[in-house]
Amino acid sequence: MSIAPSTSDPPRKPHVPVGRVDKMSNRSNEKLRKDAHPEPHAKEEISQPADFWNRSIMLTAIIAPFIGLVAGIYYSWTVGWMGWPFLLLIIACWCVSGMGVTIGFHRLGTHSSFETYRPIRAIWMMMGALSIEGSPLVWCAVHRKHHQKSDRIGDPHSPNLHGSGFTNAVRGFIYGHCGWLLTTYWSQPDVKRYVPDLLEDKFLVWVDRFYYLWVLASLGIPALIGAAITQSWHGALLGFLWGGLVRTFMGHHITWSINSVCHMFGDRPFKSSDLSTNNLICALLGFGEGWHNNHHAFPTSARHGLQWWQLDISWLTILAMKKLGLAWNVKVPSESSLAAKKRA
Ligand SMILES: [Zn+2]
Ligand SMILES: [Zn+2]
Repeated sequence: MSIAPSTSDPPRKPHVPVGRVDKMSNRSNEKLRKDAHPEPHAKEEISQPADFWNRSIMLTAIIAPFIGLVAGIYYSWTVGWMGWPFLLLIIACWCVSGMGVTIGFHRLGTHSSFETYRPIRAIWMMMGALSIEGSPLVWCAVHRKHHQKSDRIGDPHSPNLHGSGFTNAVRGFIYGHCGWLLTTYWSQPDVKRYVPDLLEDKFLVWVDRFYYLWVLASLGIPALIGAAITQSWHGALLGFLWGGLVRTFMGHHITWSINSVCHMFGDRPFKSSDLSTNNLICALLGFGEGWHNNHHAFPTSARHGLQWWQLDISWLTILAMKKLGLAWNVKVPSESSLAAKKRA
């Protein structure tokens, strides 16, 4: 059975309600796990370790940026600060790839929260691919599944299904943050089931097919810019290190924090059938994605920062696109639906 594109709230039927999530402190994770939906095929959906090849690729993707960070710090300590041009290079690469994820992969690809021209959608998705967080179709398929099963068995990266107690909470956090990347949830996404609409877009399929090219570009272009800035191999190394690896490290952990931190720590102003939270720090670093409880309550909304003070850079960018005629059918929740889901 195919899953319809995520153009409305995620399906609720298969789930058993977990009760009042704002009382999470009074209920154990063990209870939550027992409440997980009892579908007969649920066992099949429990994560299994990925095969050796996929685990090796993913471990490299997790560890290499960290090694880059250590090398960058060591370099700064021994040789000296990289200089303003390279700081600007990190920020520019971070914004391009980061908003490629938040606007391209997430709000546009996964949730169809606005429409734009197909080539522009493909460009946003290509920018997302530069983040080295997986190919567009895989990312979107996994994320639709996250919304469908959120914080229940079958959720690819819930941090809340590892049992009660401090140790299990830590285990859950690590699993939700990046441990799940080593499982079949990531290595065997059911793309045909979860993103059939995206598979019909030839531009997207093309971008997806050349994912490893975007990975190379993501690391190679900062190196080329670094070489151009300093006219030296030394500059190429600095560009690769800071604009490539360190920027990837930042982007990874900010995105992963939405999956871990924003399902464990923060406020829950809206009713949602999961444990998603709003977290200011994640919102500021994640271009607005940290307003995650808002997002789970209104998944198709292009705007995640629903209060005037909730800074949401991705939303402001979509708004600018709308004003320029580059975005239409921009979805935001009505006043009545906001009021209906607001917690007392
Ligand atoms: Zn979530
Ligand atoms: Zn989402």
